[in-house]
Amino acid sequence: MNFHILTLFPEMIVDGLSTSITGRAMEKGAITVNAVNIRDFTTEKHGHVDDYPYGGGAGMVMQPDPVYRAYEYVVESINSRQRDGITSVESTGIDEYITSCDSITNNSEIGNTKKPRVVYMTPQGKVFNQNIARELSKEEDLIFLCGHYEGIDERVLEMIVTDNMSIGDYVLTGGELPAMVMIDAISRLVPGVLGNDISSEFESFSENLLEYPQYTRPYEYMGRKVPDVLLSGHHKNIDKWRHEQSVERTKERRPDLWEKYVKDNSKLSGNLKK
Ligand code: SAM
Repeated sequence: MNFHILTLFPEMIVDGLSTSITGRAMEKGAITVNAVNIRDFTTEKHGHVDDYPYGGGAGMVMQPDPVYRAYEYVVESINSRQRDGITSVESTGIDEYITSCDSITNNSEIGNTKKPRVVYMTPQGKVFNQNIARELSKEEDLIFLCGHYEGIDERVLEMIVTDNMSIGDYVLTGGELPAMVMIDAISRLVPGVLGNDISSEFESFSENLLEYPQYTRPYEYMGRKVPDVLLSGHHKNIDKWRHEQSVERTKERRPDLWEKYVKDNSKLSGNLKK
């Protein structure tokens, strides 16, 4: 799976994702991370990418043209890769690309190309969750657009964004951390990223339940012992105990999730009875 991130701070993305599991996934080629600097696409002579908001007010707004050009660059690189039958990202030179698309003025002129999903990170978006991660993990390419300052000029958002996503009801300084949160969660669901693919199937939020408690060595720690059933070797009993723990934990910590679980399961048993 290929992640393309349009950002003013590509080093933040690359540094953040190059370690641990996502880093190893990049080395193995299970995912690619293509952080594209929006500033490289400005035609303003001082390299500016933002300006004062029309109508007044605090802060600066990112201008539409550098964002649009960066987007076109990524779409073109995805399409040329697909034309050539290559599975991972192959970038064309940015300078070469800017010259070649100088005359392009609107989205429809990108040509006969398949448009990938463009996720704009915004506190005004739908709140990200595990189901959305699962859905997005099926895409071959995903473009993330990270805002900064007061955000991005609305016109370019109208032109290119397919999904508005938030990571929670609070305001951060930029879209880079939210994009990394989403990329991390999505990557774990891409085949080949986790050592053991099964481990992403039975964890919190699968079937709207939280995961059961986990234990490792030592058997006794500061007077607290591991529950005996986990040492019994009796897999049926272990599964039963884990399920009960998941249920108790979900009821107590996330009553909203528990309600969904009950609703889904009553629908399911209703369907089976029909
Ligand atoms: N003025 C904007 C508003 O009130 O909706 C907030 C702009 S915020 C300071 C700058 C950028 O950070 C946004 O364009 C967005 O990309 C990102 N951002 C901030 N909080 C976020 C959140 N909770 N989820 C996703 N992105 C967020």
